[in-house]
Amino acid sequence: MADVLFNRVAFIGIGLIGSSLARVMRRDGLARTIVACARTEKTQRAALSLNLADSVTDNVAVAVSDADLIIICTPIGAYASIAKSMSASLKKNAIVSDVGSVKGAVIDAVAPYIPEGVHFVPCHPIAGTENSGPESGFDTLFEDRWTILTPVKGSNEVAVERVAELWRRAGSRIERMDPDHHDQVLAITSHVPHLIAYTIVGTANDLEERLKSEVVKFAASGFRDFTRIAASDPVMWRDIFLNNKDAVLEMLGRLSEDLSGLQRSIRNEDGDGLQELFARTREIRRSVIEAGQHIPPKPPKYSDQGN
Ligand code: NAP
Repeated sequence: MADVLFNRVAFIGIGLIGSSLARVMRRDGLARTIVACARTEKTQRAALSLNLADSVTDNVAVAVSDADLIIICTPIGAYASIAKSMSASLKKNAIVSDVGSVKGAVIDAVAPYIPEGVHFVPCHPIAGTENSGPESGFDTLFEDRWTILTPVKGSNEVAVERVAELWRRAGSRIERMDPDHHDQVLAITSHVPHLIAYTIVGTANDLEERLKSEVVKFAASGFRDFTRIAASDPVMWRDIFLNNKDAVLEMLGRLSEDLSGLQRSIRNEDGDGLQELFARTREIRRSVIEAGQHIPPKPPKYSDQGN
């Protein structure tokens, strides 16, 4: 029997992440009604034909009116204008949440528009793929992945727990974090690795024609994995770097120091130093496996990269 958690849910943005959560809600009957808001008719039509929503609109204010839960699932750069557009139409006691990959900047962008009596529960599911759009979602995306909640000062505990329960139903494990701490952790575990992938694939692309075609032809697993990560949505990632600037630059500074160290080890033929580092990194891989975070989610055919 359906176990309804929310009467009316509004998704603002219904791409990979929004549609995956909508699929969970549909599968388990967690919402009586779902409304999806997207900019383009194409996405609106897809949301209806995939049965992700009961109704669709391109109007944020229309989407949120009478909703108990509003989840912003667009690229982060759109958050401030979305929050502004919804502000006057939010009903009392509604919960506004989101799935953005950066939290400090998101809170700064949205919190000023949350009226008295409405609860804001910022959230980030650490699960994703390099694909975008409503067709790319799947209902097992969040299973055994962490979802991080970063409640703001004075957050309503009941609202936080209701959002946490929703993500538990999606199969997530829940962790609470301070927003700045979240942004630092994600800078090193997700944002900088993406930047490295963008760099290495870009560097390969800038090579002279002959070498470039050989790179593609002989893409062994190392380069192949980088190309998969570097195929991630350009707008979403532009917004992540612009909105997590400080933490990313801090981690990049450390990384380039460590890279210089490695360069020196290679130049000086310091085999012991290299081997010692690689042994330590192999241990980290073991810890990831022990924590059960090495297995990709199981979409029809794609693999994972938590963002
Ligand atoms: P997506 O598949 O590209 O979907 C984005 C959705 O937002 C679409 O429905 C799009 O509608 C709508 N949208 C885009 N720009 C908009 C704007 N300016 N105003 C209003 N609506 C807009 O994106 P996603 O991968 O689901 O990512 C959404 C959020 O989840 C991002 O904030 C990202 O940081 C976070 N996140 C992503 C991942 C991941 O791996 N992808 C993982 C964790 C968290 P149209 O199609 O009509 O333009």
